[in-house]
Amino acid sequence: MTTPTEFDAIVIGAGSVGNPTAYFLENEGLRTLVLDELSASGQGQNKAAIGGVRATHSDPAKIKLCQESIEIFSHWEERTGTDIGWKKGGYCFPAFTEKVEATIKGLLPVQKKFRLNIDWVEADELKRVVPGINENGLRGGTYSPDDGQVSPLLAAESFTREAERLGAVYRYGEPVTSLVMKGNAVAGVRTANGEYRATTVVNASGVNASAICRMAGLDVPILPDSHEGGISAPVKPFLDPLIVDLRPGPEGKTINFYFGQDANGQIIFCYTPIAPISGTNRNSTYEFMPIVAARLVEVIPRLKNLMIRRVWRGLYPMTPDGSPIVGKTPTVEGLVLGVGMCGQGFMLGPGVGENLASLIAHGGPSIDPEVFGLLSPGRDLYAGKKEALK
Ligand SMILES: Cc1cc2nc3c(=O)[nH]c(=O)nc-3n(C[C@H](O)[C@H](O)[C@H](O)COP(=O)(O)OP(=O)(O)OC[C@H]3O[C@@H](n4cnc5c(N)ncnc54)[C@H](O)[C@@H]3O)c2cc1C
Repeated sequence: MTTPTEFDAIVIGAGSVGNPTAYFLENEGLRTLVLDELSASGQGQNKAAIGGVRATHSDPAKIKLCQESIEIFSHWEERTGTDIGWKKGGYCFPAFTEKVEATIKGLLPVQKKFRLNIDWVEADELKRVVPGINENGLRGGTYSPDDGQVSPLLAAESFTREAERLGAVYRYGEPVTSLVMKGNAVAGVRTANGEYRATTVVNASGVNASAICRMAGLDVPILPDSHEGGISAPVKPFLDPLIVDLRPGPEGKTINFYFGQDANGQIIFCYTPIAPISGTNRNSTYEFMPIVAARLVEVIPRLKNLMIRRVWRGLYPMTPDGSPIVGKTPTVEGLVLGVGMCGQGFMLGPGVGENLASLIAHGGPSIDPEVFGLLSPGRDLYAGKKEALK
């Protein structure tokens, strides 16, 4: 069967953002084509994510979008009958130092303003939330029980299947090589197989997003940096929340270290290097496992007997101010961006997708437009404000 060439919308990238966007566009009745250069859905950075999903950010737009994502992820099985590994175990930021305590307590007012279910819990209570946590120096921490985890692999597959069921057409192994322009408006895309036409093109191409924007003459800086992750063999479930340890690692190379136990009992983990490792190199490093093993055991000593099954290295699509770039481009009609997701594209994906579909179909987002506008492609990306928990 030949693929049709006329669509209402074209999504570039079948990833954390592109798949939910296609699903919600089809829900709005827009005939949608999804193109990906890789051989299957979710094979870009989506599969590198460890699946943490939280609304507890410091940026109002990310809070609102992730609240929508949690709503979607947590009801996905009821909506579609498909298990995507949703586990409502919450997030916990333990504080072992005065500095971390001040940082996370400082974020509480804005988080509470957005009615997030998060609070400071004293050390004794935290020991119940995180069984086996190292009590040495533990001052307490924040706990947000409504956050959770999802399997990025299952989610990509399910969003794709549901989008296709509604009518979306997916084409793999077909990179977009240029945009079809009609004056200042986008009119479609070109691949090695020819032209596809649509008056709306959504750039959801992850770390490749700058290149797609350049095809329309736009300079949108998306700068990849790399992060490693890993997963253990399953162990008996004992840990509900995902843990984020904000202390600098004793080895001097890492900051945020985060881990949790997924719905299968596997411990899944990664960390943020102090000095970002820019570029697209995805070879595993020799230092990741020794550092991460020490940090895991530092937070929960009983994890010393874990058997590690697999490690990997993936990329964050970073922006200069650490916040995503989402919305219509001010200068190219029909070109819509869902890019620069930094380290949170998986959790932002469904909320971004739902809002972009609403923007395209009805002219406005589903969350408060003023809050949505904080992520606008037209903002000054170098204004200096940095997201605290990117
Ligand atoms: C170790 C690690 C752990 C992480 N943990 C989490 C986490 O717990 N929670 C979280 O929310 N995020 C996490 N992330 C971040 C998350 O993986 C990314 O932010 C997210 O996947 C980015 O989504 P995206 O849709 O922008 O890109 P992708 O998922 O990479 O999708 C972009 C797609 O576009 C395609 N593409 C690119 N160029 C073209 C082209 N020219 N033509 C056609 N297709 C094209 C690519 O093949 C790709 O499939 C983690 C990342 C890493 C590396």
